[in-house]
Amino acid sequence: MKKLLQSAFFTEIIKALKLVFSHYFVKEVTLQYPHEKNTLPDTHRGALCLLRYESGEERCVGCDLCNAACPSYCITVVSAVEEKDHIQRRYATSFDIDMTKCVFCGFCVEACPVNALGMTKMYEYSTSNKRELDFNKANLYEIGETWYGQAKGYLIAHNQEGEDETVSEYRYRFPSSRKEEEVEV
Ligand code: SF4
Ligand code: SF4
Repeated sequence: MKKLLQSAFFTEIIKALKLVFSHYFVKEVTLQYPHEKNTLPDTHRGALCLLRYESGEERCVGCDLCNAACPSYCITVVSAVEEKDHIQRRYATSFDIDMTKCVFCGFCVEACPVNALGMTKMYEYSTSNKRELDFNKANLYEIGETWYGQAKGYLIAHNQEGEDETVSEYRYRFPSSRKEEEVEV
C-alpha cells in the first residue's frame, strides 16, 4: 500500500528534485583550474628543493641522511671533502632525486641536520618525458632559489627553522652530554 501511494504521488521524484534544487543555493566549491588556483598552506608538500645560506654557500654537507630516511629510495647523493683555509668540509658532488618515485612524505627534509632540503608549493611540472623528473643538483638549487620563500615557510611551519639569522646553527647541535664533556675538559 505504502509503495502504491509513493508511486501515485511521485514521492521519490519530488525528493530527488528537492535535493537537486537545494544545490542551487550552496556555495560552489569547484575551482576552474588552471584559471583558478587553490591557496595552499605553508605545510604543503610539493616539489623538493635544495637551499643555500644567505652567504650563497650550499647548506648540504653530503651526509646522506636524507637518503637513509627515504622510504622510496629515490635520493642518490655522492659526496667529497674539500679543504679551505685548513678547514675540511664535506659537500655533495652530485645530488639526484627521482621525483617519479617520491611519495612526498617529507622524511628527507626532517632527517636533514642542516635544513638543506625544503618543500615548495610547486606542483605544475608534469611532462611526457619521465627523465625530466629526475631532478639533479642544479635543478634542485634552481627550484630552491625560485621558491626560497616557500621552502623556508615549509621549514618554519614544521618547526624546523627559526625566522632569525641563526639558521645555520638551528638544527645541527652536539648532544648536551657531549657539550658538557667538552666544557669539563
Ligand atoms: S619526500 Fe619522502 S619519498 Fe620523497 S624524497 Fe623525501 S623521503 Fe623520499
Ligand atoms: S640534503 Fe641534508 S641530509 Fe641530505 S645529504 Fe645534504 S645535508 Fe645530508
